[in-house]
Amino acid sequence: MRVLKFGGSSLATPQRIRGVAAIVAAAAQQERVVIVVSALQGVTDQLLGTARLAERGDAAWTAQHRAIARRHMETARRLTPSRGGAALQRRLTAMLDELRDVLRGIHLLRHAPPRALDHVASFGERLSSEIVAAHLAQSHRAVAVDTRELVVTDDHFTQAAVQLDATYRKIRARLRTLLRTSRGVIPVVTGFIGATPDGRTTTIGRNGSDYSGALFGAALGASVIEIWTDVDGILSADPSCVPGAFVIERLSYEEAMELSYFGAKVLHSAAIAPAVAKRIPLLVKNTLNPEAPGTWVSARAETSPPVAKGITSIDGMALLTLRGLSMVGVPGTAQRLFGALASHDVSVILISQASSEHTLCFAIRAADLSVARKAITHEFRYEFQQAVTTLDEAPGQSIVAIVGEGMKGTPGVAGRVFDSLGRNNVSIAAIAQGASERNISFVVPTTSRVRALRAIHEAFFEPRRKLMLVVVGVGNIGEALLRQIEQQRRYLLERGFDVRVGALCNSRGCIMDAEGIDLKHWRKRLKASRKPITPAQLALAVEAFEWTHAALVDCTASSDVVDAYPDFVRAQLHIVTPNKQANVLPMKRYAALTELLRERHRYFLYEANVGAGLPVISTLQDLVASGDSVTRIEGIFSGTLSYLFNGGPDVPFSARVKSAHELGFTEPDPREDLSGRDVARKLLVLARLTGLALELKDVVVEDLVPQPLRKGPRRDAFFDELARFDAAMTARHAAAAKRGKVLRYVGVLSKGRASAGLAEYPVEHPLALGRGSDNIIAFTSRRYARTPLVIQGPGAGADVTAMGVFSDLLKLLHYLPASRGYAGVT
Ligand code: ADP
Ligand code: ASP
Ligand code: MG
Repeated sequence: MRVLKFGGSSLATPQRIRGVAAIVAAAAQQERVVIVVSALQGVTDQLLGTARLAERGDAAWTAQHRAIARRHMETARRLTPSRGGAALQRRLTAMLDELRDVLRGIHLLRHAPPRALDHVASFGERLSSEIVAAHLAQSHRAVAVDTRELVVTDDHFTQAAVQLDATYRKIRARLRTLLRTSRGVIPVVTGFIGATPDGRTTTIGRNGSDYSGALFGAALGASVIEIWTDVDGILSADPSCVPGAFVIERLSYEEAMELSYFGAKVLHSAAIAPAVAKRIPLLVKNTLNPEAPGTWVSARAETSPPVAKGITSIDGMALLTLRGLSMVGVPGTAQRLFGALASHDVSVILISQASSEHTLCFAIRAADLSVARKAITHEFRYEFQQAVTTLDEAPGQSIVAIVGEGMKGTPGVAGRVFDSLGRNNVSIAAIAQGASERNISFVVPTTSRVRALRAIHEAFFEPRRKLMLVVVGVGNIGEALLRQIEQQRRYLLERGFDVRVGALCNSRGCIMDAEGIDLKHWRKRLKASRKPITPAQLALAVEAFEWTHAALVDCTASSDVVDAYPDFVRAQLHIVTPNKQANVLPMKRYAALTELLRERHRYFLYEANVGAGLPVISTLQDLVASGDSVTRIEGIFSGTLSYLFNGGPDVPFSARVKSAHELGFTEPDPREDLSGRDVARKLLVLARLTGLALELKDVVVEDLVPQPLRKGPRRDAFFDELARFDAAMTARHAAAAKRGKVLRYVGVLSKGRASAGLAEYPVEHPLALGRGSDNIIAFTSRRYARTPLVIQGPGAGADVTAMGVFSDLLKLLHYLPASRGYAGVT
């Protein structure tokens, strides 16, 4: 047995009702079905509006009544042209006459108490069930059932509470007889309405047909309760405010409850309860698109639920703040406050209390504001008299809630919510997070509601950007980078970035995985692979994966990989690298590569080329891009050379080189550093960035390796040999000291020329102030004319270099366009 509930939106037009009949007919072929219907779309509002007119003595109520009558008669006429048309017309006419009598009564008395409103509202469902049943009856057996005979409620009119046991008993008994006497009949049941035990008509709250559907499902032990509406299911947000909202495949009962409680009217929050009690799944489906799979709501737990499932909002809230010194440390204030509200039937939607207890802040429906104010001023009359307590009121508020089982124990969810709101200039008036951690809700002015919803939806649900990496070289830097990527995976995911390593190679082997390599075990797998591959082959291989966004991360220092850069660019990969070789290629090849990158819209990022993790490249790029003209770049670009001179003259130069070597500050052969070649490359990278078409040979460098040792001794003999030249270096230190200066190995780019070598600086000069292996780079420009812009910090080492590469990856991620087709953040 299946229960199918059709909302007003599914019954908006005769055309839609025909669609409903088709859905019902198909379902009835498979199983027994019970149909629950709402009023035709908009009719409940119209009925209540007419009652209000009559209450005010406004004669327009009669015209309204005629309009309602016309709509129903017309719909009936179009849907029952053949059999049963006349009988239906008669029944509808009788009902509409009764409705007119009730409205006239209200008009005469100028009074529409809740009881009368319920009576008026009940006609919507009574009329629609007759129409739908008669239409179905043209091809099936179908009968309208008035639930005032079945759904037993208390007399809390407009919000009546259902008495479950009595209701279930009546539903079972009635349907059993019905199905016995008339085999295969389809009952078309009125949603939304019920009656007190003594027969007075009640309604069970707006949108209550969903609840009716659930009651029938629970009473009859249905296999599923289907809620048919006008959207493809429960969406991650109200689609009318958030264009990017998408259908949620499944929800737990609790999640659905939270979403509907806080305003996702697609499912009435009370509807869940009977289904939960009987463990009956709910399926939300689209009448206009029956093929869509819809949303399942059930007890089934998900193994790895997304952090958040959906966001919702309710308008028409007022935020009240009870404030006062009298509340500090006085137990029972909250009890008195909420007790007073409860005794006046004011329900509190959200509470937040500052730990200082100076204030108690809570949200209620704005419609309850005057009642609430009265209740509170009475309860706290003495405090108000003595002016120790005050009540602030802010109407025009909305509550926004973000919901999901996955938020439990996931750090940073609230941070992300409020961060995204902050960046979108939404200020928050109150915040509450339930102990279940399934829901974070907060109050914002209604004027910011849509902005808030969109900001959060974007932060939590919008398509994630996925980037596949091809990492070549797993020496110190590559290894550190993989570690950082693995460590920051969650951080990136939470920001909507999915970074995976799709290929990983060194000179001895290569591993690949279209879906991404598990970075916990790469070492073992790479070692086992023993299948070296040339860079050009690698480019071809990764092209075949057809990744949407991919980048080569060249963590080698070799020019072999650089030679294959064009192949990677043609394979649609961006390039990110600490390797300087590409930037110091002969100008012709460099220009060809740049042109190819431009043509293919690929990025080439190389922050770690200079100063490792220090933002040297990006700073220079920003200066140039923002129209500054850089007149001079002067700096200590080598961590090794920095270390050698920062110590001063006290330790002999050769001993210092030796200790640098031992500390791992130098290349395997320290002459690589002492020669100044590395500094020359960095200067060239910067020079080309400023638009200079220099070649490496144009950079003039002072080689600190004494002439006789340049080709000569083996590495281990080198230090001893170097000691023979210590005196010369000590003399240079001494000469500088005599002039009150210190010695530094500095690269300079100025007036189109680049050079590097030893120079003397006053002790208070920025370049004289480095420590350890610091890099110090000073930019002088039109804007930074008097005092240069100085960047200083450790400029060598695997971790900081990898960080420079990582920052390029982040930049790249932000450049990527968002891709669609993703549901939820895990
Ligand atoms: P019915 O008449 O079928 O009961 P409702 O109008 O009560 O339909 O509920 C369906 C509407 O709920 C949708 O058309 C949509 O505009 C709105 N809605 C609000 N929030 C959501 C959400 N999170 N998911 C789906 N629909 C939503
Ligand atoms: N017709 C009722 C209403 O508009 C009940 C429902 O649609 O669920 O509130
Ligand atoms: Mg509804």
